[in-house]
Amino acid sequence: MRAKLIVGNWKMNGSRAANEALLKGIVAGIGDAQASCAVCVPTPFLQQCEDVLTGTPLAWGAQDVSMHEFGAYTGEVCAKMLTEFGCRYVIVGHSERRAYHREDSALVAKKAVAVLGEGMTPIVCVGETLEQREAGETAQVVGAQLDAVLEALDAASVAKIVVAYEPVWAIGTGRNATPAMAQEVHAQLRAQLKARSGEAADIVPILYGGSMKPENAKDLLAQPDIDGGLIGGAALKAEDFLAIIRAA
Ligand code: 13P
Repeated sequence: MRAKLIVGNWKMNGSRAANEALLKGIVAGIGDAQASCAVCVPTPFLQQCEDVLTGTPLAWGAQDVSMHEFGAYTGEVCAKMLTEFGCRYVIVGHSERRAYHREDSALVAKKAVAVLGEGMTPIVCVGETLEQREAGETAQVVGAQLDAVLEALDAASVAKIVVAYEPVWAIGTGRNATPAMAQEVHAQLRAQLKARSGEAADIVPILYGGSMKPENAKDLLAQPDIDGGLIGGAALKAEDFLAIIRAA
């Protein structure tokens, strides 16, 4: 049985004052939740996460990382730097980075390798656009996105990643994939992991992301291959995020 994992992706939101209230609100309400949980915050707030969350059940991480180790890459942040702030997770290949920063799957694979190399867990995002879904290309698109990462890893490393299926048309739109639609893609991703790395596939969490909220979380999380959620908007309110954690 895979434990459930609920991760908040704050995207480019937050302020020191607002974060303090949000993080403390989440921690105060976690209680004896069954699911593991984490927040992935903007890089300048990682120190605040370390200060507020050390010793609590809420882990934290970053939303992106450089593929490079160190050097002349103005504006970039490398994996080793993230480890200095206690990050456990790093999101790689989010569709917003693929779309707005032209990240391709080869680059995403290198970022995943960089994260694993520093002992952190990459949350590898895959997902199709509405156009691709309507053209019947979902399986091929997400398959190719995951394959690029799997090709860069040995089986032992595959066992250490988290995969997130985030259909682009469901992100921030209020329109989530139905549990059946999501399960179909998750099962495909699981089969692909299995073909590549055998038993490792059974322990890799596959999260769903895209308008997950308290009202739909339970049904989505009840699917056999949906092991958790990557939450955008609903992660910015402690009560909503907690309701999703409790649904897991
Ligand atoms: P929303 O939950 O706001 O749709 O965002 C999902 C997402 O992109 C998480 O990474």
